[in-house]
Amino acid sequence: MKGATNVSNQVLKVNPEIIKKMKSYYNSSIQQKLPPSSVFVAKPTGCTITAYQSGKVLFQGKEATAEAKKWMSSSSTIPPKPKQASKKKTHAYSPPAQIASMSIVGSDEVGTGDYFGPMTVVAAYVKKEHIPLLQELGVKDSKNLKDPQIIEIAKNIKEVIPYSLLVLHNEKYNTIQQKGMSQGKMKALLHNQALTHVLNKLAPEEPDGILIDQFAEPGVYFNHVKGQSHIANKNVYFSTKAEGVHLAVAAASILARYAFVKEFEKLSQKVGVTLPKGAGPKVDEVAAKIIMKHDVSFLTKIAKVHFANTEKAKKLVNKFR
Ligand code: MG
Repeated sequence: MKGATNVSNQVLKVNPEIIKKMKSYYNSSIQQKLPPSSVFVAKPTGCTITAYQSGKVLFQGKEATAEAKKWMSSSSTIPPKPKQASKKKTHAYSPPAQIASMSIVGSDEVGTGDYFGPMTVVAAYVKKEHIPLLQELGVKDSKNLKDPQIIEIAKNIKEVIPYSLLVLHNEKYNTIQQKGMSQGKMKALLHNQALTHVLNKLAPEEPDGILIDQFAEPGVYFNHVKGQSHIANKNVYFSTKAEGVHLAVAAASILARYAFVKEFEKLSQKVGVTLPKGAGPKVDEVAAKIIMKHDVSFLTKIAKVHFANTEKAKKLVNKFR
């Protein structure tokens, strides 16, 4: 029988005091050659021990576990990195720590980076009592879901939670964009409108708060919605990656994606080609074909024409002609 050498590795993190103690403990087997940034190397029977300036001590060899055990009580296991949340910029609109278990109206949008297809914005209300049901129905961060799953989940939750869906078709998008409105402002106005609709549906019940999947600094957002007849501004929180912060945003995101996918399919049928998502080279190609089949103005109805794709498509057309 071939003997597989039973080599195991152990890493401990200890303070400089313990490293000193280790060094004198293994004094009889200390090695002369030191790898970079190490403090000492010792080779007791069946084990190579390398202590580093960082405080990490590596035990290698078949006695590694046994040797490491001698020092475990003096070591601190390296603590896991604090969660994402603490790395985020905090501001006056950062959600409270317990938000995941609160009753929240969440909002999110889809389609802002897609040349073809509309922009869809959804605000959805998820009461804390509904959280387990929505989890049961599969609601989670839609970035981890494929379109068929999104459609399935959306169909189920549509009947369960109050929401408002707004679809900004490209004909209108292009008109207001050409009048000088930024996409950021369009988003802000649509989020505010969707949120206001949901709050009206709920009244006199009020949510514990509103969570907007952050696409702009809160100050910029409120500047955009200034002057609107209704402004959802009570207990408003902003967070990036908010789908992971409260299920209301995850649900809003799923419903917005569902609406986008449906509109996208309708458009594809209307045009007679399968439109590609996003804004990459494939989009330029398809846009060029559409220009040749119809004309440039046709794009106004189905695409966000201020995207660079329009010019790229025109160049492609010139090459073909
Ligand atoms: Mg978003």
